[in-house]
Amino acid sequence: MKLISILIPAFNEEEVLYQLYERLNKVIEQIPYYRFEMVFVNDGSKDNTLFIMKSLRENDNRVNYIDLSRNFGKEVAMIAGLDYVKGDAVVIIDADLQDPPELISQMIQGWEEGYDDIYAKRKSRSGESWIKKSTASIFYRVLKGLTRIPIQENTGDFRLLDRRCIEALKTLRETQRYTKGMFSWIGFHKQEIMFDRDARAAGSTKWNYLKLFNLAIEGITSFTTAPLRLSALSGSIISIIAFLYIGWIVIKTLLFGEDVAGYASLMTVVLFLGGIQLLSLGIIGEYLGRVFNETKQRPLYFVVEYNGEKSSFRENMKEKLPIL
Ligand code: UDP
Ligand code: MG
Repeated sequence: MKLISILIPAFNEEEVLYQLYERLNKVIEQIPYYRFEMVFVNDGSKDNTLFIMKSLRENDNRVNYIDLSRNFGKEVAMIAGLDYVKGDAVVIIDADLQDPPELISQMIQGWEEGYDDIYAKRKSRSGESWIKKSTASIFYRVLKGLTRIPIQENTGDFRLLDRRCIEALKTLRETQRYTKGMFSWIGFHKQEIMFDRDARAAGSTKWNYLKLFNLAIEGITSFTTAPLRLSALSGSIISIIAFLYIGWIVIKTLLFGEDVAGYASLMTVVLFLGGIQLLSLGIIGEYLGRVFNETKQRPLYFVVEYNGEKSSFRENMKEKLPIL
């Protein structure tokens, strides 16, 4: 029987953990022919979250927990979980029951149809203020405009990933992680299912606007070097205009003279230096972008099949081949 891991990152979630366990259990019982494990990641909680995880494990050996040494944030908690899950597939789900576990059976169905990444897209975002909704929509629009990789809008981390995707994600070891972008980046066959996102069952959100803003910056800067390119582009345009203006000042001064002494030479020098500086910044930016991309040391590509054969990622990883 195939094993499905359910990965739950949790940070101060004592109020919902039992409730989540009950709901997951109910869902799992109704899905025959599969084995399940639950992998809780305690992301440095300050409340009784770890204690609850331990007590769940005592009564149910399908429960596993990983206790991180401090709060690393959800992105890191997720990769920690992915490192430990044993399943043929993993379902990543929030601890707060905003992602209805009932969708898992639908995800498994998609998985059996041959999809590798079945993600849940929000039809609605109940319990979220209009500010959060509209900032989210602006963020997605900017990100989409800056990159050629297809971005899944209004999609969280709630999804089922095939083992191949897990292994692919595990090769992306960058410390500043934007996991939503990584799901897009690794590719593979994706299927979308729609759902209504519930409000939190209990407890409070771990995000505030500062954290969300940071995540947005993280998303844009770790996903694309477009902002760097923007500085190169604007630098070139401004310096071209500056050099044209220099030409005009020189010609005008030669033909008609200049009333203010020193104006022409001063202006020429200022514009020339400014233009050169902007150009150099742009060039440095281009190289910086390359360094940035290389330091991530990402694999160049992943293969879905070879001659119609889905080869397993694990065996090939030993030889460090990026074939799956
Ligand atoms: N989370 C985490 N570490 C953090 C912040 C959040 O593991 O530093 C977990 C949290 O316990 C929850 C999930 O990430 O399971 C989503 O967090 P939250 O519900 O606060 O975010 P929101 O749903 O408001 O976007
Ligand atoms: Mg939530």
